[in-house]
Amino acid sequence: MPLQIGPWQLDSVHGGSFRSDGGAMFGVVPRVLWTRYVEPDQRNRIPSRCHCLLARDGTHTVLIDTGYGPKCPERLRELFALEPGNPLLESLQKLGVSPEQITHVVLTHLHFDHAGGGTLRDAQGQLQLAFPQARYVVQREEWLVATSGAAEVAGAYPQENLLPLQQHGVLELLDGPAEYLPGLWLFPTGGHTQGHQVVLFRHGEAGALYPADICPSSLHLPTMWCMAFDTEVVQTRRAKRHWLELAARHEWWVIWDHDPQQAAALLAADGKREFVVRESRPVV
Ligand SMILES: [Zn+2]
Repeated sequence: MPLQIGPWQLDSVHGGSFRSDGGAMFGVVPRVLWTRYVEPDQRNRIPSRCHCLLARDGTHTVLIDTGYGPKCPERLRELFALEPGNPLLESLQKLGVSPEQITHVVLTHLHFDHAGGGTLRDAQGQLQLAFPQARYVVQREEWLVATSGAAEVAGAYPQENLLPLQQHGVLELLDGPAEYLPGLWLFPTGGHTQGHQVVLFRHGEAGALYPADICPSSLHLPTMWCMAFDTEVVQTRRAKRHWLELAARHEWWVIWDHDPQQAAALLAADGKREFVVRESRPVV
């Protein structure tokens, strides 16, 4: 990183490290298989990171996903070993970007580790926008599920991450795929959540794909290696295969959202693991 796709400069931005249960991260894959690739701690957690993506084309300053943010309750902080402070804002500062400069926040979906950093609490404890000049963009389907209050999904969507976006009038809801800005495409995939979307930058032959949680890391390349959090796992498998095939064939960079070691990779088709990393960029 950074990658350049036409006018877009892409920088991986650290949204915070965390540890997540290995079983939850690999779904139906037996522990004896995934422990060949990653070693869990005493609580069966494996290291993970939130990689957000900063995309700048000279006119727009777009942040894709926001990490878990600074306001998670202590119970979650302990469970997931969340990093203290506000790693996202610190990482942006290192790139010379202030919160006020962000023009768009694109959310792949609304789980806490993707949408939590979009809002914060001020000194009085009031919820505020972390990026006050930005419009926040998400698929309508995702928003409707996340704010439905339905018992079966309520735990996945803390409302403190969502309601301020509506209250401040900064929310933009999309209905399906779109070239949202020139060269920046959004494609709904479903699978991980009902309204999950991936982000694709394209310019001529060059491309970069942010598959978000349909393929969160280089360990998730095989079709069957999906997270237990997926609401419709067969659709995740289908969408992952579709997008990884395109990325391998067109030699697009794949930018991970949760890989502990790599920020981005180029893929090759592989007889055994389906896809393998043939070149990667380390996390910064
Ligand atoms: Zn995630």
